[in-house]
Amino acid sequence: MEVFSSLAQDHHEQVVFCSDRVSGLRSIIAIHDTTLGPAIGGVRMFPYESEAKALEDVLRLSRAMTYKSAAAGINLGGGQGVIIGDPERDKNELILRAFGKCVNGLNGRYITAEDVGTTVEDMEIVRYETKWVTGLSEAMGGGGDPGPVSAIGVKHGLRACVEEVLGKKSLKGVSVVIQGLGNVGMYLAQVLHQDGCKLFVADIVSSKAEKAREDFKAEIVSPDEVYEVKADVFSPCALGGIINDDTVEKLKVKIVAGAANNQLAEEKHGEILQKRNIFYAPDFVIGAGGLINVVNELEGHKPERALKKAQGIYDLMKRVIEISESEKLPTSAAANLLAENRILQVKRFKQRHA
Ligand code: NAD
Repeated sequence: MEVFSSLAQDHHEQVVFCSDRVSGLRSIIAIHDTTLGPAIGGVRMFPYESEAKALEDVLRLSRAMTYKSAAAGINLGGGQGVIIGDPERDKNELILRAFGKCVNGLNGRYITAEDVGTTVEDMEIVRYETKWVTGLSEAMGGGGDPGPVSAIGVKHGLRACVEEVLGKKSLKGVSVVIQGLGNVGMYLAQVLHQDGCKLFVADIVSSKAEKAREDFKAEIVSPDEVYEVKADVFSPCALGGIINDDTVEKLKVKIVAGAANNQLAEEKHGEILQKRNIFYAPDFVIGAGGLINVVNELEGHKPERALKKAQGIYDLMKRVIEISESEKLPTSAAANLLAENRILQVKRFKQRHA
């Protein structure tokens, strides 16, 4: 595992490996960029098949958080934590406390929150060891599960995409395939159903798909068929890397718009989508609602403020479309440019006023 060359590739500032003999914690925290402020990003617990895979994931996710924060106009940088282990089997108070101690050692350079495999309740345990944690329950003065606000953000981003691609002002009658019915996907199914969308859903947990069928009249498709459904929109709300060499040619939709982080396996897949005339809503733009919710908590949680900002993802998506058209870039590259320009401008401003 070439650690320093991995860090150099995307200019990561710092990577911390944490180990605790008592709890068995094996964790990595990556700080990608702190130009805009301390690095914020969730902690993912996942049974990575190797330490190299865990490092690869934490580097990709922390970089994505820098871009998400920058594009959404948030005054924070990008970071991420991963814990190597199966959340169902290995998660316990000691592991979470040990992770909290590790976060605390960074003295505010990294602020953690929940992610795949960790929950609001887990963050309350992390809080025993550090104040540098957000995404706490409402009972503890936090903003609760960020999933619903993420889903609201996706809905408003999708409105801008539908307007652009289908020329429709409303989501009524738009057909959407949702991949993954977890904290974001299930709530997205609910709000899109309320807006009159026709839904197709897939989840590896069949009871979740059954629930969406009963509650939102969704049609169930198998996880393998999900890429080939003929519909207006494909909404990835499960895993990263799902737009790849195997899937990109299968898609029969006009729009890809969902919350999952790092949907494109590689940048080239954004270009392939554009060539295939499939509109791609950059994941770190449309999926910023969860980040907005946890950042709102740091400023004293006001649910209406978080919702208003998540609704603003409609305008953000419009801005990305403008840049994509004026610079003749795929939307993925246009969103990168939006984020990078903001970071560069703030960097120059800080240098001038140092
Ligand atoms: P989650 O773990 O609650 O839900 C993921 C769902 O996907 C689960 O129901 C799981 O069974 C299902 N799934 C896994 N593999 C699948 C497959 N191959 N096919 C179909 N379904 C599959 O996670 P979440 O919090 O809902 O987040 C979903 C995605 O969105 C993640 O990539 C996450 O990083 C990203 N995201 C989440 C938030 C948030 O606020 N929770 C915010 C921004 C981005």
